Amino acid sequence: MIDAARIVLKKHFGYDEFRPLQSEIISSILSKNDTLVLMPTGGGKSICFQVPALVLGGLCVVVSPLISLMKDQVDALRMNGIEAAFLNSSLTFEEEEVIVEKCISNTISLLYLSPEKLKGSLAMLGRFNVKLFAIDEAHCISSWGHDFRPEYTQLSGIKNRFPEVPVIALTATADNVTRRDIIRQLSLKEPKTFVASFDRPNLSLDVKSGLKSREKDSEIITFIKNRKQQSGIIYCLSRKITEELAEKLLNHGINSAAYHAGLSAEERNSVQDDFINDRVGVVCATVAFGMGIDKSNVRWVIHYNLPKNIESYYQEIGRAGRDGLKSETILYYSLGDLVLLTQFAEQGQQREINLEKLKRMQQFAEADICRRKILINYFGESLEQNCGNCDVCHNPRKHFNGTLLVQKALSALARINEPVATNMLIDVLRGSHKAELIAKGFDKIKTYGAGSDLSVNHWQQFIMQMLNQGILEMAYDEGFSLKITGLGKEILFGKKTADLVYPVVREPKKTKVVSM
Ligand code: ADP
Ligand code: ZN
Repeated sequence: MIDAARIVLKKHFGYDEFRPLQSEIISSILSKNDTLVLMPTGGGKSICFQVPALVLGGLCVVVSPLISLMKDQVDALRMNGIEAAFLNSSLTFEEEEVIVEKCISNTISLLYLSPEKLKGSLAMLGRFNVKLFAIDEAHCISSWGHDFRPEYTQLSGIKNRFPEVPVIALTATADNVTRRDIIRQLSLKEPKTFVASFDRPNLSLDVKSGLKSREKDSEIITFIKNRKQQSGIIYCLSRKITEELAEKLLNHGINSAAYHAGLSAEERNSVQDDFINDRVGVVCATVAFGMGIDKSNVRWVIHYNLPKNIESYYQEIGRAGRDGLKSETILYYSLGDLVLLTQFAEQGQQREINLEKLKRMQQFAEADICRRKILINYFGESLEQNCGNCDVCHNPRKHFNGTLLVQKALSALARINEPVATNMLIDVLRGSHKAELIAKGFDKIKTYGAGSDLSVNHWQQFIMQMLNQGILEMAYDEGFSLKITGLGKEILFGKKTADLVYPVVREPKKTKVVSM
C-alpha cells in the first residue's frame, strides 16, 4: 500500500520522497488505525491525509476551522488534478446541491467542511462512501488547548456514527493534557500517535526583560537598521500598539505597516500582499497576522509584548526561518504585559487554564536554563544538550548540583501520595503549621520540614526549574497538581543527578501578580 502512496505522492504532488513520519502516518491510516499527528506548522500535515484519501478511494471528509484556508486548499488540490470541494456557510443552496450530488456519485476525493457545517451533515455523510475523516487543527476541540472552539465539540459524534471509518486528527500545537483530551473527545480507538520534532535549531531565542518602552523602541530600530533588506514581524499586544509602532518605524525610515483585525479585509490583504512580495519589510501585527501566510524568508520575529501562552509564542516565532536558514527571535518581557495579560485571562472564559498557561509563559521568560530545552520539553520531547543558540546558553547562569534538593522535594511529593499543588508541597517541605496540612496528617511525613532552610520564594524558583527541566509535570486538568516524571523518578532513586541554578535575586515586587 505504501508503494501506492508513493506513486500518488509523485503523480499528484510531484514529490519523490516522504518527509520524516509522513510514510509512517500514512501506513497507519491505510491500516485503518485512528491516528493522532503532531507536527509543527510547515511540517507537511496535509499530505498525511490527502495521499491516503486518494489511495483509499471513496471520500475523505476534512474538517477545518478557517473558511479562507479551506478555499486555498481546495484550489491547490484541483490544480494538482484532484477532485475536491468544500461546504460552508458561504455557498448557495444550488452550489451545495451540485457538490452533494458529486459526493454521492463518488466523483470527489476530498470534501472540506467547517465544524458548524458538519453538525447538520452527519446524516448526509451516511449517503457517501466515506473512507477517512481528517480533523485539522484538532486542538480546537479541547478546552485545555489554547484555541478552544465550541463548534468543534460537534465532532465527538463522528466515531459513534462511523465506527469503522478511521479518523486522523492533526495539530501543530498540543501539550500532553490537550493530546489526551483530543483522543477522549473524538473517542479515538487505540490511536497511533506520531509526534514530529518541534525543534527548530535555526531560530535563535532571546529574551529581554526590564526595559523601558523608549529603550525597547530604540533597540528595535537599531536592530532593524542593522538588518537591511530583511523581512520581519513584530507581534504586539494591541491594535493601538501596532499602529503607533509602525508609525514610529516609518518616521525612522523603516518600511513598515500595521496589521490587525480592526482593518478592513481589503487593507489586510494589501499588507499581506506587500509583505509577501517584499514591498513592506516589517509588519507590526497582532496575533491575527500569520495564519496561512506562506513566506519562507522571514528572517526575524520580535515579540514586543509577552504572548499569552507558549503555544502562541512557538507558533509565532515559527513563522521565521521556514527556509531553514538562520533566523532571529527576540521576546521583550515586562511586568506591565504580565499585569494586562493576567487581567485578560481573569476576565475571559477558561480562566484557570489561561492563567496556568500564562504562568508557564512567564516561567519561560524568567527561566535560567537553556530556553530551547524548555520549549522542546513543553511539547513533550527532550533535548539532551544545551542548544548554544539562546540567550541563556550565551550567558550561562551559575549552576550547582541540585540532586539532594530535588530528591527532598520529590520524596516529599511521593510520600504525600495524593495530588497536591505547588503551595502545599512547599508548605510540607518548609514544615508549615497550616490547618489543612495538619488535618491531612502531612506533618507526619518523614520529609516534613526537610526544606525549612529555604524561603518560599526559593522553593518556588526551584520547583519552576524542575517543571522546566521535565523533572516534575503539572496536571492542570487535575487541580494543578504536581506529578513526578520518569526523569524525576530516576533522580529520586539516585540514577541521575539534577543540575539547578542559583535563584535570581530580584528586588521585592510591590505587586505580586501571578503567584505559584
Ligand atoms: P502544515 O499543514 O503541516 O503546516 P503543509 O501540509 O502546508 O504543512 O506543508 C508545508 C509545505 O511542505 C507545503 O508547501 C507542502 O507542499 C510541502 N511538502 C509536504 N510534504 C512534502 C514532501 N514529502 N516533500 C516535499 N515537500 C513537501
Ligand atoms: Zn539554549
